[in-house]
Amino acid sequence: MMLPDPAIVTCPACAAANRVPRAKLGAGGTCGRCHASLFAGEPITLSAASFDAHAMRADIPLLVDFWAAWCGPCRQMAPAFAAAARELEPLVRLGKLDTEAEPAVANRFDIRSIPTMILFAKGREVARKSGALPASAIVTWVRDARKA
Ligand code: ZN
Repeated sequence: MMLPDPAIVTCPACAAANRVPRAKLGAGGTCGRCHASLFAGEPITLSAASFDAHAMRADIPLLVDFWAAWCGPCRQMAPAFAAAARELEPLVRLGKLDTEAEPAVANRFDIRSIPTMILFAKGREVARKSGALPASAIVTWVRDARKA
């Protein structure tokens, strides 16, 4: 999966589409509309309102952690998911979707157990995995899926 150049990066704060030259993806750019950092080195919080802007309209693939606060394995995996964000950004965006707060999004993707991670590229589901993973396994799984 080659990124287009420039690539569309969705702003984590206002969900505006930003066109960023591929060579500048790692340069700490800010949103043209709200001036927030386009990448903060940590997972973003996804909502029903922002989900499609990140999953469907961005060129940057999106890895979603479908989780809930009552889920022990989800809470256990949170630091690993955050560590994976530091490794994978800016070539992959990582986001968390609270299945309790946003059940419609969880239903749309037929999430039956949590944690479940789905990797999206331009709106297409390219890989899915259920169960908690350590950071290194998340990174390896995503890199392999992007090569496929
Ligand atoms: Zn913005």
